[in-house]
Amino acid sequence: MYMEAFDMANSSYPNIAIIGGGPGGLMLARLLQVRGITATIFERDTHGDERPQGGSLDLHAGTGQRAMRLAGLEQAFLAAARPEDQGDRLYDPAGTLLFDRDGLDDDRPEIDRTALRRILLESLDPGTVRWGSKVETIAPAGKGNYQVVANGVAMAFDIVIGADGAWSRVRPLLSDAVPIYEGVTLVEFGFDTQRHPAVDALVGSGKMFAVGANLALIGQRNGHGHIRGYTAQRIPEGDARKLAEATPEQVRETLLEAFTGWAPSLTDMIERGSFIGVRPLHALPVGHRWTSRPGLTLIGDAAHVMSPFGGEGVNLALADAADLADALMSGEGWDAVTRFEEAMAVRASPAAEGAAKGLEGTLSSAGVSNVLAHYRRRVAA
Ligand SMILES: Cc1cc2nc3c(=O)[nH]c(=O)nc-3n(C[C@H](O)[C@H](O)[C@H](O)COP(=O)(O)OP(=O)(O)OC[C@H]3O[C@@H](n4cnc5c(N)ncnc54)[C@H](O)[C@@H]3O)c2cc1C
Repeated sequence: MYMEAFDMANSSYPNIAIIGGGPGGLMLARLLQVRGITATIFERDTHGDERPQGGSLDLHAGTGQRAMRLAGLEQAFLAAARPEDQGDRLYDPAGTLLFDRDGLDDDRPEIDRTALRRILLESLDPGTVRWGSKVETIAPAGKGNYQVVANGVAMAFDIVIGADGAWSRVRPLLSDAVPIYEGVTLVEFGFDTQRHPAVDALVGSGKMFAVGANLALIGQRNGHGHIRGYTAQRIPEGDARKLAEATPEQVRETLLEAFTGWAPSLTDMIERGSFIGVRPLHALPVGHRWTSRPGLTLIGDAAHVMSPFGGEGVNLALADAADLADALMSGEGWDAVTRFEEAMAVRASPAAEGAAKGLEGTLSSAGVSNVLAHYRRRVAA
């Protein structure tokens, strides 16, 4: 069956595969399901909590929160969200507090990734997610459909949606673009506030940054007495690769050398945090788009991965899911999806530009003065 005539609004709906059970893919499946359409999600994780899902996320009113509302999950979101954790703190490398705001009037409540994933998963019909299904290939299979191969098993679908993040297997069928290393690598650590009261006090009610020349230390409050810590370093890609292959002890040693001269109150985070992982940052070119191809599309990081320094990634993924569900249900066939793809690129471009500028501004030779000026401008606006 092919798409020129698909009309999901009138129940001649196609067979849909969503590759990736991250926030974007799960939200899309939910928004189709509330309208009576079942999609199959292929997810390489073997269950919802298989790996650390990463730090806390703030959902924005017009994008992430809107999608949760459309999905009928607003109450579940509000029950799990932490509006009290929207503060910002900024330190210099000597450990001097330069900026402190509680953020209580903001409308960007934080939610743990595990909580967001759980809410979305619990909203789906049992069996929607095929766990432990790492998609190996996707290829045109004639008659306008696509063959998805996971764990050596092939299945045919009319529509395949790549919600499979930065290293999408679907994207190469649409675009030659590949994410480029942005020159900055994060190393992630975990803290339990009971065991680390000094880190607890340092971080305050939300996020803290300590910034030096081309170096930063970040602390982010999560739920349930946890804090995520990150070092951010401007290093060449080869060094990032070596760091990713090093043992946790070697990583710690390399970082302590890079942060020589910083206050012990800050470097304690490197010495005492539980090592989680090395994360070199990659981004697709700002404004990434492709020629629409019926039956195949992308959402979220697969379409527009950007550095986390803009704080928009998950919000865009959730908003893309909401808009793609609308396009698929519009009864206007693939033309509506083509319009969605264009609108998605237009929305993602300024966010990607902002994320790239945020990264440049934070990890610069000017050190903390750039970031302080940014925070002060934001308060004055
Ligand atoms: C350190 C860090 C901090 C961040 N902080 C923030 C923040 O504060 N705010 C914010 O808005 N965004 C933040 N982001 C960005 C945010 O995490 C992403 O934009 C968001 O997760 C994108 O969602 P997604 O569903 O598109 O992709 P992902 O979350 O990447 O999900 C993709 C899913 O696809 C699965 N998958 C991948 N390949 C395959 C395959 N071949 N077969 C089957 N399954 C596959 C993966 O296992 C994963 O579950 C941060 C990112 C990083 C790295």
